[in-house]
Parts: sequence; structure tokens; C-alpha cells
Amino acid sequence: MPNMQKEKTPMREQAANVRNSNFEEVALGYSYEEAVNEAARCLNCKKPACVDGCPVGVKIPDFISLLAGGDPGAAYEKIKETNALPAVCGRVCPQESQCEGKCVRGIKGEPVAIGRLERYCADFAAESGGAEDPDSPEKNGKKIAVVGSGPSSLTCAGDLAKLGYDVHIFEALHKPGGVLVYGIPEFRLPKAIVEREISAIEKLGVTVETDAVIGRVMSVDELFEDGFCAVYIGTGAGLPGFMGIPGENSNGVFSANEFLTRVNLMKAYDPAYDTPVKRGGSVIVVGGGNVAMDAARCAKRLGSDVKIVYRRSEAEMPARAEEIHHAKEEGIEFLTLNNPVRINADEKGNTVSATCVRMELGEPDERGRRRPVEIPGSEYDIPADTVIMAIGTSPNPLIRMTTPGLETNRRGCIETADDGVTTTRPGVFAGGDAVTGAATVILAMGAGKKAATAIDEYVKKNR
Ligand code: FAD
Ligand code: SF4
Repeated sequence: MPNMQKEKTPMREQAANVRNSNFEEVALGYSYEEAVNEAARCLNCKKPACVDGCPVGVKIPDFISLLAGGDPGAAYEKIKETNALPAVCGRVCPQESQCEGKCVRGIKGEPVAIGRLERYCADFAAESGGAEDPDSPEKNGKKIAVVGSGPSSLTCAGDLAKLGYDVHIFEALHKPGGVLVYGIPEFRLPKAIVEREISAIEKLGVTVETDAVIGRVMSVDELFEDGFCAVYIGTGAGLPGFMGIPGENSNGVFSANEFLTRVNLMKAYDPAYDTPVKRGGSVIVVGGGNVAMDAARCAKRLGSDVKIVYRRSEAEMPARAEEIHHAKEEGIEFLTLNNPVRINADEKGNTVSATCVRMELGEPDERGRRRPVEIPGSEYDIPADTVIMAIGTSPNPLIRMTTPGLETNRRGCIETADDGVTTTRPGVFAGGDAVTGAATVILAMGAGKKAATAIDEYVKKNR
């Protein structure tokens, strides 16, 4: 008999007033008993709607029933059949708009906590040493180049390796993982977990070369000359946008990408590292998305007084409700319906304040979101020594500029055929944020999976 408890089994987390001054993980995970109790809420539906909501097609009822039967190791193996990064997805996927958003238990209560269960199984396997090293598949002698090492590239590389390809990842940074290592903070996604999942992909025979910027050390054309028979581009959307307001080049104004890279990848929060970062002081974060929440929560943990400035109201904020809730709990102030129009600096060029205007909501725009309109004469100054711009990113133009025949759209995203992964350049496939613009981990992984199938078909056809 399923457990008909209406709410999800709660997951313990660090208290807000404790966690807002450390970088340890906020959510603490389920115990075995909690995980089995939650798994028993699944109805094991014959036509599971949850699976339709998963871009990588995890066999959700199958893994949950193995867990409910007391075998988390087997449940983990079931997840791994289709998902290369379960401990990552269990922590950062927006399940509310994916699998859990479709779960039938959500009609008369809360959906099954699929993400928490996925996380439990992955952590159980790692902690119990139960995650067996995969057998290295037999090689077929064909080389594939994968550019970038974010979730889309890792998924594509893992799937191709399982098909017998010799896969070589080229990553511009000194560590693989993309946003998982340089963007998403340690307290939401510990880097040891990302390393663990990447190492499982390497054990399939995938080679990762870091500090290798394709378009600089080698072009896509040169990869083909070097014997690669197809190239996957998963270079993400890491180019930050700025507002273009006066004073934006003052000292103390950062893009969220730069700030988060310093804190996460370069470990500025850890006194053992000498990465420069401002601790304490007053910080304004501009934006209302998940990136803004992450930047604000990092700044708070570095001892700063933090304000989020967003030009619409909270109802229009693109960030996940959970992230907004966590940020508020941790003591971050929200100034909605406000917009900076100027950054003010002292005679040395150091930021001292931001001039903001108050806004009101006007008519809906083409996407149905009400347009923010300035209230005339409402200018006022907010004192701040650091301003972090988190107003969106776009793909870096390097690959586009160095790859003849690769078409992009006006947002700089790589154009693909209807399959979402075949580009205008024969033998070149692309996916993830480089194609869609900034999106989510699981959508990037779904594209990586699709691309692996398309590359396999392409190579077989062109043998
Ligand atoms: P990326 O993860 O961006 O990886 C691209 C990689 O390519 C990078 O490592 C980059 O260095 C490398 N690269 C770029 N150019 C080159 C080149 N020329 N040569 C070699 N390598 C190159 N999504 C969620 O689902 N949940 C979240 O909680 C979440 N939080 C986020 C928080 C932040 C701060 C940010 C910035 C994003 C967040 N996202 C979240 C979005 C998610 O991380 C991205 O959608 C996802 O990482 C995209 O994956 P990708 O593989 O396409 O690219
Ligand atoms: Fe279980 Fe919900 Fe999926 Fe049904 S829809 S199989 S109840 S997780």
C-alpha cells in the first residue's frame, strides 16, 4: 500500500542564521528511513507523467520502487542508466517545473519529492562505496571532440563513450564542470560532488583537457584536420550583460559571473586561497533571477549587508520561489520595483553608491509580463561599495567568429535544425545554453543526450 501522506517528507537544512555565515551545504539530505518513507508515496503509475517531465528520461517509478523496497544501490544504478549526473540533478534541477510538476500526487497534495530521492540514492552509492566503476566500453576507433565541459558536454561525452567512441573534451577553464563549478555556489552544490560525477564519466574513457580554449589554441576546422570525425559544441552562455548606465566601469562593479567565479571556482571564501574578494561592506545585486540570488547569498556569507534591486515586483522575479525564500531567510533585503540609473564613485574611482529610480508596473509586454515604468522624480541614492550585475548572459562569440559556416541568431545562439542539435556546419553539433541561451542544467543535459544519438547516426552514415 502506498503511503498517502499528503506532504513531502521534509528535508533537514542548516538554520538560516547559522548558514548565512558559512559555505557548507544548506540542505542536509534524507536519512534512509526518510527516503524510504518518501519513496512509499509513489503510486508506481502505469503511465508515469513524471517521466514525460524529465528531459533525460530517468525511469522514475522504477528507481523509486527499488528504493521503497529497501535497495538504494539498485535504485542508483537505475537512475544512472539515463542520467550521468544524478547527485547534481537531485540538488539543482527545478523539479517543480519538470518531473515533480507532472507527478499525479501533486493534484491533491505535494508531488513525490523525486529530486530529494535522486540525491539520496546518489549520495548513498558514493558513501557506501557501492557505485561500481563502469566497465570501459569496447572502442570503435572513432574520435569525437567535445568543446566545453558543462552538463551538456559531460552528458554527450558520457553517452558517446558508452557507444564506443574515443571522446576528448576541451575545456577553457582550469577545471571541468562549467557553471556547476564556476557559477552555482558550494552551499547549493558542493564541488566534491561535481568532481565525483565527472570522475565517473572519465572512467568511461573520456579524456578531459583543461586550459584549452577552442578558437584560440585550435579551431573547430583544426579539430577535424586532427582526425576528429565530429565536434560537439557545449560552450554555454557565459558572456555577462551590463546595463550601460553611467559609472558602470567604477571599481567595485562586477558581473555576477566574475563575482561567482572568484568565490566558487577560485575559492575566495576560503582563507587558504589568496583570490581577492571584498568581505563586509554594502553590496547591491541587480537582477531577479537565480544568478542574482546566488550572488547575493555568497556576498551575505562574506559578511556584507546585501540588497537585491529588481525593476519589477516579486511576482515577476524569474528566480525559483525556493531561492527567494532562502535568500530572505538569510537576511537579504529585497528592493523590488527599483532600478539603478547611475553608479557613483569617489575621486579614486571607487563605488560609493547607486542612484536608483522607483518603478511601477505598466502594460504587459509581448511575453505577458507587465512592463516596468519609471516614476518621474523618484531618484534616490543607495550607499554601496560593491554592485553586482546579474541581468543575464549570452553565448561567448569566439566559436562563432572562428568557425566558418556556423550560423548563429541575433542573440548569438548557435542555429540548429529542428532536432535542436544539428548545426549549419556538417559534422558540427551543438546544445545546451550555447543554443538556447541561459536555461537549466537538465535541459542542457537533454540536448547533450540528443546530440550523442545524432552524432552516432552522422558518423555511421559518413563512414
Ligand atoms: P555551461 O555549464 O555554461 O558550460 C560551458 C563550458 O564551456 C564552460 O566550462 C566554459 O568554460 C566552456 N567553454 C566556453 N567557451 C569555450 C571554448 N571556446 N573552448 C573551450 N571551452 C569553452 N540551472 C539549474 O538547472 N539549476 C540551478 O540551480 C541553476 N543555477 C545557476 C546558477 C548560476 C550562477 C548560473 C550562472 C546558472 C545556473 N543554472 C542553473 C543554469 C545552468 O547552470 C546552465 O543552464 C547549464 O550549466 C548550461 O550547461 P552547458 O553545458 O550548456 O554550459
Ligand atoms: Fe510516482 Fe508521481 Fe511518477 Fe506517479 S507521477 S510514478 S506517483 S513519481
